[in-house]
Amino acid sequence: MNEFELIRRHFLPLGRAADAAYGIGDDAALFAPTPGQQLAVCTDTLVVGRHFLAEADPADIGWKALAVNLSDLAAMGARPRAALLALTLPAADDAWLRGFAHGFGELAAEHGVALIGGDTTRGPLTITVTVLGELPAEQALRRDGARPGDLICVTGSLGDAAAALHGATDSALQRRLHRPQPRIAAGLALRGIATAAIDVSDGILADLGHILTASGVGAELRMDRLPASPALLAAAGEARQRQQWQSGGDDYELCLCVPPERLPQAEAACAPLALTVIGQIRAEAGLKLIDEQGRLSESHAHDSGYRHF
Ligand code: ADP
Ligand code: MG
Repeated sequence: MNEFELIRRHFLPLGRAADAAYGIGDDAALFAPTPGQQLAVCTDTLVVGRHFLAEADPADIGWKALAVNLSDLAAMGARPRAALLALTLPAADDAWLRGFAHGFGELAAEHGVALIGGDTTRGPLTITVTVLGELPAEQALRRDGARPGDLICVTGSLGDAAAALHGATDSALQRRLHRPQPRIAAGLALRGIATAAIDVSDGILADLGHILTASGVGAELRMDRLPASPALLAAAGEARQRQQWQSGGDDYELCLCVPPERLPQAEAACAPLALTVIGQIRAEAGLKLIDEQGRLSESHAHDSGYRHF
């Protein structure tokens, strides 16, 4: 199977959702954003041996490669429209490609995302996805809008993916790791309500730290209030273990800030997803952690989270 046959067979069918795009097959795709909307564009790479194992289910890899990108659009409050896929493959393995395209296509179809182009090369398995989303100008959920007094909230629950990564075998936990659900609907509904937002990919401490730095504020975080799923509570023996997993990352929940009087609106925007208040923004710099006994410690948020370099 040559490169063009591979693209035609596996990726051309994922371009059909395009309504305003001239996609795969020419030198560049043509894309028309809805008039009056701003484009939100981002890209993320997954590398074999670093973000996933070579023997992982290719459908899960395809799903996750798109999911981590859609999660970034969710955190901006953008509506996903289209994606580009740069694939580096050790070999043209038809069964692997079918699985990969299926997983990618399942999530793309859920969010109306059209695959409009990409690149295919030979080398160590590496997947780079670029997504295009759109939103009304000036309505993006940025990292720099948090203000003292804002409540810090998180959608859904934290820690399931980290528990699965560290060996928990429960199928609900495994699914959170391999099939993360980008919180697109919540991101869209939170426009005009949240003052700042970020998706939780590197762990709540590191990601909240990015909001604090960008906004020039500090925070108090209640570690005992971090939301846990029933599966996580069952898998974690002790509170320390649970909290370690809950700050582990790969959750792809949204962490957002909201003035206290807008909390009911924010809760309604996220429904049926739970929204949990986990802390409050303060004027003084630094991230103070409060445990169940009310003890205070200083987080070195900027030292935590995964670092490639
Ligand atoms: P070029 O030589 O102009 O870069 P390519 O041979 O790389 O063109 O790609 C041919 C067409 O197929 C282009 O429209 C490109 O966007 C698309 N394409 C290539 N690889 C992929 C892929 N993995 N997924 C989706 N579209 C792809
Ligand atoms: Mg090319």
